[in-house]
Amino acid sequence: MTTFNCGATIFVDQKIFIIQTSDGNWLGVISRDLTERNQLQREAREERDFALQVINTVGQGLAVTDEGGNYLLVNPAFANLIGYEAGELIGKNPQGVITVAADEPVLDQAHEDRRRGKTTTYSATLLHKKGRHIPVLITGSPRVKNGEIAGTIASITDITRVKRAEAEREELIKNLEAQNSEMERFTYTVSHDLRSPLVTIKGFLHYLEQDLAAGNQARLHSDMRRIANAVEKMQALLNDLLELSRIGRVMNAPEDISFTEIVQDALGIVHGRLAARRVTVQISLSQSNPPTVHGDRQRLTEVLQNLIDNAAKYMGDQPDPRIEIGQRGEEAGHQIFFVKDNGIGIAPEFHERIFGLFNKLDTGSEGTGVGLALVQRIVEVHGGRLWVESEAGRGSTFYFTLPTK
Ligand code: ADP
Repeated sequence: MTTFNCGATIFVDQKIFIIQTSDGNWLGVISRDLTERNQLQREAREERDFALQVINTVGQGLAVTDEGGNYLLVNPAFANLIGYEAGELIGKNPQGVITVAADEPVLDQAHEDRRRGKTTTYSATLLHKKGRHIPVLITGSPRVKNGEIAGTIASITDITRVKRAEAEREELIKNLEAQNSEMERFTYTVSHDLRSPLVTIKGFLHYLEQDLAAGNQARLHSDMRRIANAVEKMQALLNDLLELSRIGRVMNAPEDISFTEIVQDALGIVHGRLAARRVTVQISLSQSNPPTVHGDRQRLTEVLQNLIDNAAKYMGDQPDPRIEIGQRGEEAGHQIFFVKDNGIGIAPEFHERIFGLFNKLDTGSEGTGVGLALVQRIVEVHGGRLWVESEAGRGSTFYFTLPTK
């Protein structure tokens, strides 16, 4: 028996609590069974609250579906991942709300696995509320209720970073493979092209012996000149190769440079050929807003020098040789520049070939065939690209893009 200050007294019988006021009136009777049930219910509620607290706190996405396949429970980590509030997802079907159509066979299989009571892990793509795709790894286990399979308990891991790292690795491998085959081609071309002057030298050395034996002074001199020419060619090849190998490795600090200045410097270097061919040069650059490029001044001058030199070199028998240098539009935030000539032009089937190392369309022309490979490399090191528009007999326009900042 317990008596409280208010005067109420509680009698505890075997199965009931009796509450009586001080004046002997019954206030009420509470069944002891009921109290125990309440106690059990409270404990169950506390356990449920605790479990929910854990589920709602973990960073791992969790989702439970009912026997109808609809969301019964989702935690904030999962809802946030796809840009929803948990409440927006409850009662909805995952296939309707978040999954990408391409995953359907995978999801059908997962469904089947669950029906058979199996736990499986599979990759899928979630669709963010804003339309973005999120790669995830899902581990789904059957949810068992009253001994029956009644839905799925899924744990969802965002694997965006893993996928990105995988893509980066694949890109890296692809680049390495490309570099490797480029290197193989390069070695082959270099050894092939360096061998040809060597063969010439060897051949004429043999003739020299014959000239000496025959006392043929005139032939001796001409053979020696052929040898000297071959040696010069080899030297030019080696110099160009060295130059090419330096690009990307040895660069001057990038600076903001007026494009007009680069053009003027390059024109100064190739002045001799332009004057000899009586080429008219037109510079089409905005006076009010002259373009400024960002990069290695010396290398960029080499780009213009090579393109202008080629334009003059491949004029053919053009009676009014003209070169136009200018800027036209933008591409991916880079300005597009061009060097245009009215020379012999290049048939479309050779447009790719001319950028290859030692590739010349006319083997009799002067030059080593390294110029455009060099130009391409410099432009690419600056983040730009180089291409040509031309037809045989109708002049050529070489375009290249360069960053302005
Ligand atoms: P090179 O001029 O030393 O031969 P390049 O690499 O500069 O080497 O050029 C490769 C080839 O592309 C040239 O041999 C030539 O056949 C062709 N070519 C380059 N520029 C032009 C041009 N402006 N007009 C016509 N053909 C050109």
